[in-house]
Amino acid sequence: MRAATLWRAVVGVDKTVIEDVDFDQEQGVVVVSVRPTARARGRCGLCGRRGRGYDQGAGRRRWRSLDVGPICMVVEADAPRVSCRQHGVVVASVPWARHDAGHTYAFDEQVAWLATQTSKSAVTELMRIAWRTVGSIITRVWADTEALTDRFADLTRIGIDEISYKRGHLYLLVVVDHGSGRLVWAAPGRDSATLQKFFDALGPQRCADITHVSADSANFIAKTVTRNCPQAVQCADPFHVVKWATQALDQVRRQCWNEARRLARKTEPRRGRGRPPADAPPRAASERAKALKGARFALWKNPQDLTDGQQTKLAWVAATDPALHRAYLLKEGLRLIFQMPPEQAGQALDRWVGWARRCRIPAFVKLQKSIVVHRAAILAAIEHGLSNGRIESVNTKIRLITRIAFGFQSAHALIALAMLSLGGHRPTLPGRK
Ligand SMILES: [Zn+2]
Repeated sequence: MRAATLWRAVVGVDKTVIEDVDFDQEQGVVVVSVRPTARARGRCGLCGRRGRGYDQGAGRRRWRSLDVGPICMVVEADAPRVSCRQHGVVVASVPWARHDAGHTYAFDEQVAWLATQTSKSAVTELMRIAWRTVGSIITRVWADTEALTDRFADLTRIGIDEISYKRGHLYLLVVVDHGSGRLVWAAPGRDSATLQKFFDALGPQRCADITHVSADSANFIAKTVTRNCPQAVQCADPFHVVKWATQALDQVRRQCWNEARRLARKTEPRRGRGRPPADAPPRAASERAKALKGARFALWKNPQDLTDGQQTKLAWVAATDPALHRAYLLKEGLRLIFQMPPEQAGQALDRWVGWARRCRIPAFVKLQKSIVVHRAAILAAIEHGLSNGRIESVNTKIRLITRIAFGFQSAHALIALAMLSLGGHRPTLPGRK
């Protein structure tokens, strides 16, 4: 029958017999009644092996399918249970949907594709599902993808990083391939036991193939890496080191800002509402506090990326606050060391340490001590060329995903979204290769 072939194609299923197509007036959905073909029937939902029929389960069930035009479509069928030798009594598998899923394969694929491509509201409104449901769908899509791919193939240089999310309450430990820039592994947690799971999954053979590991300065990472990959060169992630310097600089800026505000409170009376009169006395300290607050980005950015306004602001800092400007130069100096040829970097780093030690800015005196502790790892990163922005860019993208994934019920869904988006296994749209 041609209509059955047509509907099978529309629903996007095979091994399925189309029994009937109807329009459910009450719910406004197209209902396609189906049953698995004889060969696909009576199989365990978990392992797919043939089992003995047990009972009719909960009776008829519906699965959301992709819409036909503007109208929702569901697949309806019996959901009998079978008795599997290994798994006991389970709902029989169906050829059109994953076990325990309320949506068809095609629906799952499309949601997974959209979740990695577009905004939260675009996915939920277009597919007419809750964001939590998106979380469940990508979790099961990733579980299937993971089973089919070998994501640990050819790993030699890896970066390990901790990423905080849920406003710093939770942590993800992530492993990125320096070679391809792909995210290869992620798990919730920030301790040795969590990281050990990665090396266990990698296996001793492949642990031995790892030549370089870059990480932030966390002690547990260094220890776990040494235990599992004693041959690997351990490097400091340059962008973490630069981040320490940026943080030290921001600490100095905040202190200057607070001092200006304190001075303003003491010496300059509060202004009432509305526009001040033309003959109001100038409020130098308040103005200064305001300008310092706005100087944050000028101090943060790389000099070549500054706008004209930010350049003016930097010049103003240089003219009015030598200590803050010195802190800025220290930050920039450290950043530039990572762009130097390896044979010059060691000497430059030592000179920088000497400069910072004598700079009389507490935040940088402290930073200098950390740099001395991690000197070998920092120079190893420069020598082995691990100072690329790849890890940082993946890191930034994961941070973005943790924000999008805020509404997911579990860390598994967050990791699934991160792996599908950044792991090099992007979902394809149904019906397309
Ligand atoms: Zn089974």
